[in-house]
Parts: sequence; C-alpha cells; structure tokens
Amino acid sequence: MNRTTLINKARAYSEQRGARFTPLREKVYDILLGKHGPMGAYELLDELKLTESSAKPATVYRALDFLLEFGFIHRLESTNAFVACHHFDCHHPVQFLICDSCGDVAEIQSEGLQETLDSQAKKQGFKVSKQTIEAHGLCSECQDAENSAVEEVKHEC
Ligand SMILES: [Zn+2]
Ligand SMILES: [Zn+2]
Repeated sequence: MNRTTLINKARAYSEQRGARFTPLREKVYDILLGKHGPMGAYELLDELKLTESSAKPATVYRALDFLLEFGFIHRLESTNAFVACHHFDCHHPVQFLICDSCGDVAEIQSEGLQETLDSQAKKQGFKVSKQTIEAHGLCSECQDAENSAVEEVKHEC
C-alpha cells in the first residue's frame, strides 16, 4: 500500500472514531511512512520544521501521542524511536526485529508468541493489556556485509 492510500485510510479511520486527522498529524505520519525506518522525536521535529517552521517538541509529542493511540505508529521502547505501522486496522500483536548496525526495523506478528505469553500470564492470574517484544541483532544485509568483510580480511593473508 502506498503512502497516499495509507494516509487516506488513516484519515477515514480517525474520522470514523470521531477524531480529526489534522494536517500536522498527517505530516508526522507521512514523514514516518517515508522514512522506512525508526525515527526519534527530535529527528522528526527537524524534518517537520522544514515545512512547519513554528513546530516545537510539544507539537511533535502531541502528534505522536495521537498516532500511537490510534495504532498508526509503534513506539520502540528500547531505542525510544517511532515507526509507522502499515496495517493499523487489524489489532495485531507486535514484535520488532531491530538491526543494531543499520537501524532497520522489521515488524513481525507472531500469534504463537502472543498466545504463549497470554497463557503463561493467565496461569498467574495476570491480564496482559500491552506487550512489546523487541529483538536486537543484525539484519540479513548487514550479516552479508559483515561476512564479506571477514572474507576480505581472509584474502589479504
Ligand atoms: Zn503495526
Ligand atoms: Zn542492518
């Protein structure tokens, strides 16, 4: 789904729930969609200032709160950054694979993982309202880069 389609979908989704998808909220979501990776609040603010010169940190945080509440974006707890969600209309459990080398983030949805967590929690009489699972490591591209770097070293000797 392209950016325009997703933005239109997000606007309709907000309006159905009596909320306004203001130009500013739209802009912040659009920046995140265009980025294809996580961004911190201040990085977002810098980008936003290119078109909204009066934007302040509070402006960004308010927009982010809205986008988080509606599930249009996710917050990465371990890196304190934000990523756009492309399928916000299905309430999905979220797990993230975060590459520590290039910063790329992949969202995966493992129902199995969610079920295991829920059933373990249930045994303790605990009700899970929110779960965030973040795995850090190296994406396949960075692993390839690392492997070829190792090979280069090998060739030298
Ligand atoms: Zn998502
Ligand atoms: Zn990577």
